[in-house]
Amino acid sequence: MHQLTQDELGLQQRRLDMASPQEILQWAVEQYEQKLVVVTSFQITGIVTLHMMRQFTHNVQVVTLDTGLLFPETYKLIDDIEKRLDITVQRVKPEQSLSQQAREHGSLLWETTPDKCCQLRKTMPLKKTLANYDAWITGLRRDQSPTRANIPVIDWDDRYGLMKFCPFATWTEDMLWTYIKAYDLPYNILHDRGYASIGCYTCTRAAAGRAGRWAHSSKTECGIHFAPASEVSPASA
Ligand code: SF4
Repeated sequence: MHQLTQDELGLQQRRLDMASPQEILQWAVEQYEQKLVVVTSFQITGIVTLHMMRQFTHNVQVVTLDTGLLFPETYKLIDDIEKRLDITVQRVKPEQSLSQQAREHGSLLWETTPDKCCQLRKTMPLKKTLANYDAWITGLRRDQSPTRANIPVIDWDDRYGLMKFCPFATWTEDMLWTYIKAYDLPYNILHDRGYASIGCYTCTRAAAGRAGRWAHSSKTECGIHFAPASEVSPASA
């Protein structure tokens, strides 16, 4: 894959910003082939992403960050999606087990220092995984939060050193639900119990939008996409 120059990137940003998610995904697959990976936590955007891709390719490489602290409903959903879409999800685990982390950092790191916990269980394993790829697909959308309001559909990701796609940047939650219902796709049943956004069970409460994520602290992002002030950059971790 030839790396895009700044001018080429600007051109693609303008072009793809007006394209449909299907067109963006197709272009990404054509450009990056085996060096493209979908990273998903199986929110509704991730499920629609995988279903759309399976309409035109068998080459779907998928990674999820298995912190060891996901809801049982999320683990079941991952199994269900693998069967329904005939894909294999790579479950990337942290270097430390939960008991090793507890010995080193205390048994409630997600309460005492959640940024550190996310760094150990999400950001660092992700950085190691993304080193094998040239581009990644995420489920970020502009309607999710003020920090995400201006995300581009395609951009160079300086934090991890590869191209980053947000094919659903311009979609809304309602549009995704319409798609999921239209194709009768599996989804996390916690959504039916009031959880709009779902992460580790230790840090997720039932709430609208992303209000239920780290509701016990001032934290609003895990650090994968936007580095919290307290976090050491994954590049130096
Ligand atoms: S979401 Fe909570 S438990 Fe999960 S990695 Fe982050 S701080 Fe730790």
